[in-house]
Amino acid sequence: MLLEVRDLHVEFHTRDGVAQAVDGVGYAVDEGETLAVLGESGSGKSVTAQAVMGILDMPPGRIGGGEILFKGRDLLTLGKEERRRIRGREMAMVFQDALSSLNPVVSVGDQLGEMFVVHRGMSRKDARTKAVELMDRVRIPAAGQRVRDYPHQFSGGMRQRIMIAMALALEPSLIIADEPTTALDVTVQAQVMDLLAELRRELDMGLILITHDLGVVADVADRIAVMYAGRIVETAPVHDLYRAPAHPYTRGLLRSIPRLDHKGRGLYAIKGLPPSLLSVPPGCAFHPRCPLARDVCRHGAPPPLYEVTERRRSACHFWQEALHAR
Ligand code: SF4
Repeated sequence: MLLEVRDLHVEFHTRDGVAQAVDGVGYAVDEGETLAVLGESGSGKSVTAQAVMGILDMPPGRIGGGEILFKGRDLLTLGKEERRRIRGREMAMVFQDALSSLNPVVSVGDQLGEMFVVHRGMSRKDARTKAVELMDRVRIPAAGQRVRDYPHQFSGGMRQRIMIAMALALEPSLIIADEPTTALDVTVQAQVMDLLAELRRELDMGLILITHDLGVVADVADRIAVMYAGRIVETAPVHDLYRAPAHPYTRGLLRSIPRLDHKGRGLYAIKGLPPSLLSVPPGCAFHPRCPLARDVCRHGAPPPLYEVTERRRSACHFWQEALHAR
């Protein structure tokens, strides 16, 4: 297994108390595999990814326990230097907002080339050639001419391609893409997702795709982990989950995707809001919003991840009912 996160706990110490942002999360991704991690904002999906990358703000963040095994080594036991070496060379991240992640006063060619100068000791000239190759690889037209351009001279979609090129520069085995298409319009979103999927296949990398939008992952992910209030509530192969979700929250997310054949019926929304991480409800954290909630859901410990099939889990006491609901 390329990456295995086990029972990870991350908390943030704030003036108002301790927010349990990640509460016992576990997932795994293998070479050549795409795992989509799905959830609303505040569900813990990005914080888990930041813990994997070693870029959590600490303090106020604190890793309260767990393991992050990358190629068999627990990253949480490594020193800062070793983590920095792994980041970039062996794992890289694509962020949502390319404009604020790129330096506005340095040409994209120099920013891409810098990776090769710093990490591979290349000359500026060779690094520039590599930058053009990378821009070609992420299908930026006329890369040889555009390598001297600055970030603001590119469209949003092209800037996101440059971010992907930067992540790919050192040929990492794992890429984490955090909402990589959120700031883009729908047609460009599809192109960027297709590009990521294609590069993942070509380079046999593991890809973790973090998103709040179930609509964008159907065609590219192999498996999905759905997060709610800092915990994983359902994991499944992507087609099984789309065909019949085994958790009421996933079912609600699927129903919320606008459909052309439901014209005139109005949009569905899950009632209520996700809880504050400073005061997560007891029992199942989803119970105040859940149409299937009963007494047992409102008390005690959160539901465990029940085995639905060999490759599926659901943290719902009534997963069979959710699975067969219409
Ligand atoms: Fe709903 Fe209860 Fe299942 Fe939670 S455990 S999702 S509240 S039915």
